[in-house]
Amino acid sequence: MTLALYNTLTRRVEPFAPLAPPRVTLYTCGPTVWNFAHIGNFRTFLFEDLLRRYLEYSAYQVFHIMNLTDVDDRTIKAAASAGKRLDEHTAPFVRAFYEDRDYLRIRPAHVYPRATESVPAMVQLVERLLQRGVAYKGDDGSIYFAIAKFPTYGRLSRLDTRELKVGARVASDEYGKDDPRDFALWKRAEPVDDQVGAAWDAPFGRGRPGWHLECSAMSLEQVGRCCHTQTLDIHAGGVDLIFPHHEDEIAQAEAATGQPFARYWLHGEFLNVRGTKMSKRFGNFLTARDLRDQGVDAAAVRLLFWQTHYRKPLDFTDEALSAAGQGVKRLGEFHERLVRAAGAAGAAGDGKGPLAVLTTQFESQFRAALDDDLNAPQACAALFNFVHDGHGALDTRAPGAPGAPGAPGALGALERAMAVLDILPTPRPADPAFERSIIERVAARDKARQAKDFSAADRIRAELKAQGVEIEDGAAGTTWRRV
Ligand SMILES: [Zn+2]
Repeated sequence: MTLALYNTLTRRVEPFAPLAPPRVTLYTCGPTVWNFAHIGNFRTFLFEDLLRRYLEYSAYQVFHIMNLTDVDDRTIKAAASAGKRLDEHTAPFVRAFYEDRDYLRIRPAHVYPRATESVPAMVQLVERLLQRGVAYKGDDGSIYFAIAKFPTYGRLSRLDTRELKVGARVASDEYGKDDPRDFALWKRAEPVDDQVGAAWDAPFGRGRPGWHLECSAMSLEQVGRCCHTQTLDIHAGGVDLIFPHHEDEIAQAEAATGQPFARYWLHGEFLNVRGTKMSKRFGNFLTARDLRDQGVDAAAVRLLFWQTHYRKPLDFTDEALSAAGQGVKRLGEFHERLVRAAGAAGAAGDGKGPLAVLTTQFESQFRAALDDDLNAPQACAALFNFVHDGHGALDTRAPGAPGAPGAPGALGALERAMAVLDILPTPRPADPAFERSIIERVAARDKARQAKDFSAADRIRAELKAQGVEIEDGAAGTTWRRV
């Protein structure tokens, strides 16, 4: 079986085949850095992380572009009300986004183009659209895209463009349009834009880019620079971006290049908090840093998100998060046990046996689940069956048998799966003084055992247990771990 993905463009799960394998070009709409990103935004970024990691697991070479929207209506408004220049206002939120990304173990994109640093590409794109006659200057001095000149408009969102016309509201600042459906590519500079440093000179007038234009220009510029193409393999984002954002991105890019803009469109569903849509008003507005400050292990957040398919809404509750935390802990214990068993097994330990059979079964189930449109809930179910049955196989090995046959193979499979899911518990920070004291006590116990003073040895074991340390005597000596 090979990877198949649900393509919003065709409304079908399709076999995935990139244009120039093994390369995959991936563009994901990034955060608007007017404020902290909330966990709903991060659900989208985590689904994209799963996609990216699974492509890499499947031996594709991914070139991942994520933009930062550092100029748009919201950033300008927020900067103006804080009495700051645009870059002064957005800089701390850019830093916060990177910190939150690292906390949540999201693999960094290869490039993070910023809108404010990509203005020349946007100006060029507008010029091309003007030359091709699909853009025009409105009575208000802004530049608009003429939807009537792009007959396939609405293909992604399957909107009936006639309905769109009836339903369209003419925004007060966009009174200069020929057709109410048309959208702004370039907005004429207002005094507030100049005040915060968000206006640029262009041959068609001083102004600033529209949000949709930013993504088209940045993706075309980056994918052209890296891979000499004008067609992305995958474009992804949240479902709320399908219309109008992605529809408009397609119109701008395809009208300019005459090439398909993206071959696969993937969209992640919403996140609700305790049953309702997240909002500041309901007091359920959560950011990634709120979770980090509460001491939540990012592994638990990731597992919680993997347990719902990316195309289904996810309900975020404290109970679900704490259950995911328990799952992560169980997984960590199994991983540690495999590490010890694999160490004891040595080079000769990777033989056949029940654990080897379970490992093969797990890997094929894991792959089949993720090949099927990134079915992470099913991949997690296979993983936790492996944990359960793997413990069983380790428990039932013959007493006194050297090592655990199959343990190195099982460990390898688990770690390969972790390269995709990345849900092992975050290691506790090392405490050298504590570790020294434990090593001393373990050595004292070894001495007592050698002198056959088993009551002293048992006393030390109990004493260590009280400190949260478990010890295990194996062929390679005594090992200890914090529980
Ligand atoms: Zn975008």
